[in-house]
Amino acid sequence: MFTTRAFAATDPTSPLAATSIPRRDAGPDDVELEILFCGVCHSDLHTARNEWAAWPTIYPCVPGHEIVGRVVKAGPKVTNFKPGDLAAVGCMVGSCRTCPSCKEGLEQYCDTNGTVFTYNSPGPDAIAPATYGGYSDRIVVNEHFVLRVSPKLDPAATAPLLCAGITVYSPLKHWGAGRGKKVGIVGLGGLGHMGVKFAHAFGAHTVLFTTSTSKIEDGRRLGADEVVVSRNADEMTKHARSFDLIVNTVAASHNLDPFIGLLKRDGAMVLVGAPEHPHPSPTVFGLLLARRSLSGSGIGGIAETQEMLDYCAERNIVSDIELIPVPKVNEAYERMLKGDVKYRFVLDMKTL
Ligand SMILES: [Zn+2]
Ligand SMILES: [Zn+2]
Repeated sequence: MFTTRAFAATDPTSPLAATSIPRRDAGPDDVELEILFCGVCHSDLHTARNEWAAWPTIYPCVPGHEIVGRVVKAGPKVTNFKPGDLAAVGCMVGSCRTCPSCKEGLEQYCDTNGTVFTYNSPGPDAIAPATYGGYSDRIVVNEHFVLRVSPKLDPAATAPLLCAGITVYSPLKHWGAGRGKKVGIVGLGGLGHMGVKFAHAFGAHTVLFTTSTSKIEDGRRLGADEVVVSRNADEMTKHARSFDLIVNTVAASHNLDPFIGLLKRDGAMVLVGAPEHPHPSPTVFGLLLARRSLSGSGIGGIAETQEMLDYCAERNIVSDIELIPVPKVNEAYERMLKGDVKYRFVLDMKTL
C-alpha cells in the first residue's frame, strides 16, 4: 500500500478539497499510472453530491473516470504495457471475467453484478471502503482494464472519450448507425457533442436536437447535417416517422414521447443519460403502433473502448475541452449545471 494525493468530496454539500488516499501496490497483473488528465463527467457531480438513490455515495469520494496517464510501473505478468507508455482508464477497473457477458467483452454488463466501477464501488482491495477515481495523482489497475492511447492523440482531449465517447460510440455501433441511416442525437453536452462527431464520422445523416438556438451553429460545426430546436413543434413534426435511431443523451427528466414519434417503424431510441429523477413513462401506443423500441445502453466493454480509441487515432477525433486546474473543479460543477461548458472540462492533474 502507498499513499497518493487526491481531490475528494467528504460529504454531499462541502466543496471537493485536497486530501490523500491509499492505493494498493501494483501486483503481478497491475499497471500503475501517473495520471496526467482527468475529464469531469456529470456522474462525478451526481456521485460527489450523493444524488443517485440507487447508488449511494461512500465518503470520502474521489470521482473521475476519464483518465489518461503515463505508465510508471507494470507488474511482471503485464504484457501490453511498459513504463513510459501513454494509457487510459475509463469507468471500470474490474469484473468477474468469467460470466457470459464478461466473456463476450461486455464487462460493464457483468451477469454477476461483478463490475467494479472506477470510483464509489465497494472497495475490492480491502484498503479503502470504496474505489477511488481519477481526481488523483496515481492509480493502480489490472492490465485488462487499461487501454492503450496512441501518441498521435492529444492526451487531454482524449480523456473524455473514456466515458462520454464510449457511451455514445457503443450504441451507435450496436444499432448500426452508418451510411443510409438517419440518426438523431438529443442534447449537445459532453456526450451529445461526441455523438454528433461519431454519427457523422460513421456516415449517417446526423440530426442534432437541442433546446437552445445558440447551439445551432456549433452543432453544424461538429458534424450535424441538420439541427432541430426540439421546443419548436413545427420543426419536430417535419421529421415524424423518419429516424432509424435516436440516441438521447439528456441527463434530466423529460417527456420522451415527442422523440419516439419521430422514429420510423422498427426504429429505436436509446437512453444514455442518467437523470436524478426518472423520465415520465412514454405512451405505450407511441411504441406499439410502429413496433418502436425504447432502450438503454451503458458505456462499452474494454475491447470496444480500445476499438474506439484506435478509430479516433486514425480519424483524429477527440473531445472539445476546456482544460482547468484541479481546484477549479467546484466552479466547473456549477458551470456544468448551467450547461456552460464547451463541451467537457478536463483537469490538468499536475496542478493537484
Ligand atoms: Zn462518466
Ligand atoms: Zn462477469
